[in-house]
Amino acid sequence: MSKHVTHWIGGRPAAGAAERRGDIYNPATGKVAGTVDFASPADVDAAVAAAKAAFPGWRDTSLTKRVAVLFRFRELLKRHAPELAELIGAEHGKVRSDAAGEVARGLEVVEFACGIPHLLKGGYSENVSTGVDAYSILQPLGVVAGISPFNFPAMVPMWMFPVAIACGNTFVLKPSEKDPSASVRIAELWAEAGLPEGVFNVLHGDKAAVDGLLEHEDVKAVSFVGSTPIAQYVYETAARHGKRVQALGGAKNHMVVLPDADLDLAADAAVSAGFGSAGERCMAISAVVAVDSIADDLLERIRARVAELRVGPGDDERSEMGPLVTRAHRDKVAGYLETGVRQGATLAIDGRVHPVLGGAADGFWLGPSLLDHVTPEMSCYTDEIFGPVLSLLRVSGYTEALDLVNANPYGNGTAIFTNDGGAARRFQNEVEVGMVGINVPIPVPMAYYSFGGWKKSLFGDSHAHGMEGVHFYTRTKAVTARWLDPSHGGVELGFPTNG
Ligand code: NAD
Repeated sequence: MSKHVTHWIGGRPAAGAAERRGDIYNPATGKVAGTVDFASPADVDAAVAAAKAAFPGWRDTSLTKRVAVLFRFRELLKRHAPELAELIGAEHGKVRSDAAGEVARGLEVVEFACGIPHLLKGGYSENVSTGVDAYSILQPLGVVAGISPFNFPAMVPMWMFPVAIACGNTFVLKPSEKDPSASVRIAELWAEAGLPEGVFNVLHGDKAAVDGLLEHEDVKAVSFVGSTPIAQYVYETAARHGKRVQALGGAKNHMVVLPDADLDLAADAAVSAGFGSAGERCMAISAVVAVDSIADDLLERIRARVAELRVGPGDDERSEMGPLVTRAHRDKVAGYLETGVRQGATLAIDGRVHPVLGGAADGFWLGPSLLDHVTPEMSCYTDEIFGPVLSLLRVSGYTEALDLVNANPYGNGTAIFTNDGGAARRFQNEVEVGMVGINVPIPVPMAYYSFGGWKKSLFGDSHAHGMEGVHFYTRTKAVTARWLDPSHGGVELGFPTNG
């Protein structure tokens, strides 16, 4: 039966027929699996109004009670993780273990947000003047919006809303229209956890829904994750409408391999980080930058591993890599193989001929590919491909590798593979990238650090989750107070409890 996904507003699915809808595909079969409603301006207003109405009550809910809801949500999320992974896999195409991994990484942010009482502590100075005390408090902003990409339909929203809600804000999520089901299931779990109606809302749709949120006067802040051109547009539009914005954009992540690296470790890393989730990760390795003397050896080790990779439907337990998200995206990614060769690269591994488990011919399939002898002006290097295509660039040594990474307009993630601690330390210091791995190919920070790139990979100055997330979703108030007389509150012999 074909499914129908609609908005979640004020604690329940939205009623009424949508004027516009989009198709949801099963990328493994290429068939339409359902439809999703696209928000009209009236739907945007309804979602923001529900969040606005819920704000005063949620802001004033005690930390103890807020945290109790968060802990219940965390338990429900954990219990329903396999179900969420299945929903994600069916619409995104990724294999089950990968989908389960994204739920687990999102859960870590929920666990971080469970510690919100500690994170929201302000400062206090006694006697700044005689009988006068000064202190600072962190207060929520109001209604905040999150706009997320297709590639992590559960994890990326969870970089945003657990912290925003824990801080006392109310939230409107606009997930990707390509895989919208996980966000609605998450909304149901919030309701089951006891989150009051209207604190978490889901609005589906396209540019119209996004623009409605960016321009709405009751939306106080916007968190965006997606491609660079849209991130820049969201940043500029929301800022023009007076909002606080963090907009995380695209990436071109380099993995530098020095001659003294463990080449088996480096080859494992290049294959895992280049082809995991079919390369549709903002932290995927896209460019392998190898020092000449070991480049051939590394390539052969990568080739041997790729030959063993099992590409197939996400719900087949044998599959290690699934299809791409849409036919158009698959064709665009495959196009880089032809363009790369035309521009002078060598197609060392051709994913178009990689076998697919079950021979699912109509899905959006493209196996792992590698273009060798890539140079910086080729489009396979200048563009974010966002698919299972590695580019191998050969350099003379550390300095040329570093210069290449630093000349790239993106600055999301990077990694260096070496056994020389001094070289790794220099790289960590000199590289102009927000997240750096040392013998770690996908250095996604833990929830208590913050996620975000530099340069064209981030517009705004706040990264996601961690303390930067807490600061993004709060504003500070400084209070100076004078109390003339001491007083006490009467006799109470019971043990103090929270409420
Ligand atoms: P996208 O930019 O096409 O879409 C992201 C969101 O913006 C979606 O919700 C979409 O509906 C909306 N959108 C699309 N076009 C719009 C427009 N013209 N105006 C307003 N809103 C619009 O990105 P995607 O294809 O869903 O995701 C892949 C991209 O996301 C890649 O570039 C990837 O690098 C990036 N990404 C970045 C990070 C990060 O942390 N930096 C994380 C995940 C994904």
